[in-house]
Amino acid sequence: MTEPTKTLCPYCGVGCGLEVLPPAQPGKATNRDQQGNPIWQVRGDRSHPSSQGKICVKGGTIAESLDKNRLKYPMIRESLDQPFRRASWDEALEKIVNRIQELRTTQGSDSICMYGSGQFQTEDYYIAQKLLKGCLGTNNFDANSRLCMSSAVAGYTQSFGSDGPPCCYDDLELTDCAFLIGTNTAECHPIVFNRLRVHHKKNRKVKMIVVDPRRTPTAEAADLHLAIKPGTDIDLLNGIAHLLLRWGYLDTLFIDECTQGFSQYTEVIQHYPPEVVARKCGIRIDLLEQAARYWGESERVLSLWSMGVNQSSEGTAKVRTIINLHLMTGNIGKPGAGPFSLTGQPNAMGGREAGGLAHILPGYRVVKNPQHRAEVEQLWGLTPGSISPNPGKDAWSMITGLETGTVGLLWIAATNPAVSMPDLERTKQALMRSPLTVYQDAYYPTETSAYAHILLPAAQWSEKTGTMTNSERVVTLCPQFREPPGEAKADWEIFAEVGRRLGFTQEFNFTNSEAVYAEFVQLTRDRPCDVTGLSYQRLQQQGPIQWPCPLEEEGEIGRKGEAEETGIFSALFKEKKQEKVAKRLYTDGIFNTPDGRAKFAAFHSKGLAEPPNNEYPFVLTVGRVYEHWHTMTRTGRIEKIMKKQPQPFLEIHPRDAEQLAIEEGMLIEIHSRRGKGIFPARITKAIAPGTVFVPMHWGALWAENAEANVLTHPEACPISLEPELKACAVKLIPV
Ligand code: SF4
Repeated sequence: MTEPTKTLCPYCGVGCGLEVLPPAQPGKATNRDQQGNPIWQVRGDRSHPSSQGKICVKGGTIAESLDKNRLKYPMIRESLDQPFRRASWDEALEKIVNRIQELRTTQGSDSICMYGSGQFQTEDYYIAQKLLKGCLGTNNFDANSRLCMSSAVAGYTQSFGSDGPPCCYDDLELTDCAFLIGTNTAECHPIVFNRLRVHHKKNRKVKMIVVDPRRTPTAEAADLHLAIKPGTDIDLLNGIAHLLLRWGYLDTLFIDECTQGFSQYTEVIQHYPPEVVARKCGIRIDLLEQAARYWGESERVLSLWSMGVNQSSEGTAKVRTIINLHLMTGNIGKPGAGPFSLTGQPNAMGGREAGGLAHILPGYRVVKNPQHRAEVEQLWGLTPGSISPNPGKDAWSMITGLETGTVGLLWIAATNPAVSMPDLERTKQALMRSPLTVYQDAYYPTETSAYAHILLPAAQWSEKTGTMTNSERVVTLCPQFREPPGEAKADWEIFAEVGRRLGFTQEFNFTNSEAVYAEFVQLTRDRPCDVTGLSYQRLQQQGPIQWPCPLEEEGEIGRKGEAEETGIFSALFKEKKQEKVAKRLYTDGIFNTPDGRAKFAAFHSKGLAEPPNNEYPFVLTVGRVYEHWHTMTRTGRIEKIMKKQPQPFLEIHPRDAEQLAIEEGMLIEIHSRRGKGIFPARITKAIAPGTVFVPMHWGALWAENAEANVLTHPEACPISLEPELKACAVKLIPV
C-alpha cells in the first residue's frame, strides 16, 4: 500500500493532521465522487499532536473540492463589462508590473494594496510582506484575518507586550473550569470542542460556562449558559471580576509580582455590582454569581473565545477584560489555565508570525517601532528607512480608499471579500470603481472574480509545499502531493516573480519554498515566536512542532509533562507523547512588556455600535454552521455538505415569531440601514427574544438575496480595526 502523505487540514485554525492517499490503491476500487471523478482519500493523522486522528466533516471531504471550478490560466479584461480572455503569464504579470511602476511615480507606493488571506501558507505571507513592505515601501498588506482575530492580536499585545496565544490544546484536558465566551466551539472548532467535552464528561467536578446570546450546541453541553444581551460582554466580565474581588478570590502574590495596574482596575469594577450587571446583561443574578463562583473556586480556568468577542467595535477591550480575570486569579502560565483565542483560519497564526497585517512586520514586530523596522531592513538587506513607519491600510480602509481614489491597484489573493466584507453593497460599489483589481485564487468563478480585471490562477493546498501554524502554535509542514491544474502557481511564486520583474532579483532569488522558509525563520530569532530551530528537514523527520522553538532547543521537542502525568492519553498516543512537551507561554510569570509585568486594563462597556431602536428593533447576529467554511468556495462544491446545509435561514424566537405572525419556513425580509435580504424562518428557542441569527456563508453565487453582510456595518474597534460583523440593528417583514 502507498504511504500516506501527512499534512494539515486547510480549513480552520484547529489545525487537524490529515493523511492523504491517492484515489487508486493497489487491489482496491478507485475512490470516486458522485460524478464518477476519482478523488483522493483523506483520514485523520493519529500521530498529529493537536488532533490525534480526529477530523470533522470538512476535513474529511476536502478532497472532493480540489478539482471543481478551478482557475487554470491567467485571464484579462480591460473593463468589468467585458468577458475575460485567456492570457499568458507574461502578459498578465507585465500588466501588473507596469501598473505598479506607474503608480509609484504618479501616486506613490501607498496607492498599491494587497488583501491576502489566512489560507496562505507562511511562505506566501512572507514573500508578500517582503514585496510590499520591504521592496515597495508600503505597509498596505492586510489579510482577511483583520475581520477575524485582529482584536485578539491587539489584546494580547497590549496586555502581555506581544502577540501569541499562551495556551495549548492539552490545557483542554487539564482545566477545572472552561469559560467559553463568544464562541460556538462545537460547530466552528469541533475537534477542540471534542477534546474539552470528553474531559468535561469524564470529570464531574470540571465546569463548563458558555456565554452566548444563542443556545448553540456548545451552550447545550455547558453546566451554565449565560445568554447575555448582545454587546454586554464587558459588563458581564467586569461583573464577574467585581464578585471575585468582593469574595476574595484573588492571587495576590501573582498580582503583586507579575502585573501592573490592578488598583485602577478595581476602581472600575466597583461600578459593576451583580444587580446592575444582571439587569444590563439580561440574566439572573444567581447565574452571574454561579459563574463567578465557578471561576473563584477553580484552580485552573481556561477561557476560549473567537469571533463573538473579536468582531466588535470594542473587541480589544473585550479581549483585555477577559485577560484581566486571568491576571487577578493567577490563571495563566500553568497547565489547564489561560486566555486562549481560537483562530478562525488555518494559517492566520503563521500570518501573524510573518507580519501579515498592515501594522506588523515579521517576527511579531510592529511597523511603528523604529528598532523593529531597522532589524527587518537589515535582515532584508535594504537601505535604512526603506520600510514606512506608517501602518498600512487595513481591510476596510482599502475599500474606502477605492471610494476616494487613493487606491490605484488592489491585489486580492485567496479570499472572497465580495461575500465576507461588511456593508456588502457599499463594498461592491467600491470594487466597481477600482482602476485595476488583480484577483489571485484557486477557484473560478467566485463572487469576487466578478470585480476583477486580471485573474491569476493559484495553486492551493495539496499542490504546493509550505508550512502552517495552528491555534496552539504547532507548525506543520504541508507537502505538495498532486500537480496544480493548468498553469496555476503557488502564491509566493507569483509574488516573487513580480518582485524580480520590478528589478528586485536578489531579494526574490528563491528556487523553492524551503529556501523561503529558511529565510523567514531568521527573522524570528530572539523574538517571542522564535522558530529558528525549525526547518523543512526537521519538520519532515520529526513531524509537527510547537513554538517557541529557538535554534538551541533543536532536538528537544515534544509534549509530555503534566498532561502525561494525568494519564489522559491513549496508549497509542502516549508513545508519541514521550518525546513531546506541550509548551505554554509565561510559565515563569515574566511577560514581554518592558518591565516584564502583564498589564491590567480597565474598561467600561460601550455596548453595540448600532443598538436596536423603534425602527430597527432586533439585533442581528451572524455566524457559521458546522458544515460550511467561510464563503463556500470549497464546501459549496461538495455534495455531502450541500445536502446537509443547502440554504441559508433566519433563526427567530417563538415569541418574536408569534408577534410578527411568522410561521416556520415563511420567507422573511430582513432590513438594516444598509440593505436587505430574504431568508426562510426557523423558529427556535435557541435564540434569545429580540435577537435573530443568519449564517454568514452564502454569497450571490449560491443564494439570491441572502447575503448576511449586505446587512452588517463596518464600525470597527478603534484599536484592532476589526469591524463589528457580529451585530447590527434590523427589522423583519414577512414576505
Ligand atoms: Fe479541519 Fe477544523 Fe475540521 Fe479540524 S476541526 S478537520 S482543522 S475544519
